[in-house]
Amino acid sequence: MTRIFICPSCSKKTGVEIIYGMPSEDLAKKAELGEIALGGCVIEPNQPNYRCMSCSFEWGRARQFEEAKQQWLKETVKGKSWTQMMDDGDKELNEKAKASMTPEYLAMWGNAEKDCDEGEGEDRDGDKTQTNF
Ligand SMILES: [Zn+2]
Repeated sequence: MTRIFICPSCSKKTGVEIIYGMPSEDLAKKAELGEIALGGCVIEPNQPNYRCMSCSFEWGRARQFEEAKQQWLKETVKGKSWTQMMDDGDKELNEKAKASMTPEYLAMWGNAEKDCDEGEGEDRDGDKTQTNF
């Protein structure tokens, strides 16, 4: 599964994913073919996720997210306050939220809640020992 990304710098479809860490044989082969780029074994925050094979420009998900956010602010928010946004989109958002409640999604939340309960249980035990006199 090799994905090709459009380079934000030169707009060519020559962006590949940068893989960090020790590459497997398969990944090393792909890197030789120029299907992915290897980022090395050192993993640091804010490293780029993609590299352009044409112009060597590197960019990351964080940057794309920031750009998407700016676009959203410009096109959707348009200086509206959060309260205004909520009033405007409440029903629509609720419908969308309901539509995204697939059985898998609900099962995931069920599991997450279970994890939370266990965590709280531990906390309660902690309180007990503290208030036990
Ligand atoms: Zn490029």
